[in-house]
Amino acid sequence: MGLLEDLQDRSGNVCELCGSTDNLTIYEVPPVSTGGFDGSALVCSTCKGQIEHPETTDVNHWRCLNDSMWSEYDAVKVLAWRMLSRLKSEGWPKDLLDMMYLEQETLEWAKATGEGVAEADKIIHRDANGAILENGDSVVLIKDLKVKGSSMVAKQGTAVRRISLDHENAEYIEGKVDGQQIVIITKYVKKV
Ligand SMILES: [Zn+2]
Repeated sequence: MGLLEDLQDRSGNVCELCGSTDNLTIYEVPPVSTGGFDGSALVCSTCKGQIEHPETTDVNHWRCLNDSMWSEYDAVKVLAWRMLSRLKSEGWPKDLLDMMYLEQETLEWAKATGEGVAEADKIIHRDANGAILENGDSVVLIKDLKVKGSSMVAKQGTAVRRISLDHENAEYIEGKVDGQQIVIITKYVKKV
């Protein structure tokens, strides 16, 4: 059997999110690494359209997640988690989201597209003056810094170009000093 047949078989030939039978297609849940049976869901054109075009989202359509969030398939759980996250300001989706449990690996997959991450929840890196730092910015050190695990001292005034941000910690950035990639604490740098 092909993938479509496998998914039809798994779902009973209905949309795995809302139960509709209209225009069912395979939806590979991004970011697609493996795709296939475990990485895909069978969805109807209404669900697919709204997943891909957030501006067309009809909140009430997604009441269906009340049932489908309990799917035993990760691809379906990930889609449900993302839509509930997108809609959580409505109230009820937030309640459902709170009831959901995803294994760590599945949760990381769900979060991978950044869906539902409010601006306020995003980690924001700021320099000593409170200026927002972005990947690729250049900074200068505003004090001498000992480099962990080496005898090197990065001198005050050293320019660090093309920094990268630590996505888990707002206090850390990384950059090259004297050809060596080091971790730098944001409060000791100034954006240039
Ligand atoms: Zn659907």
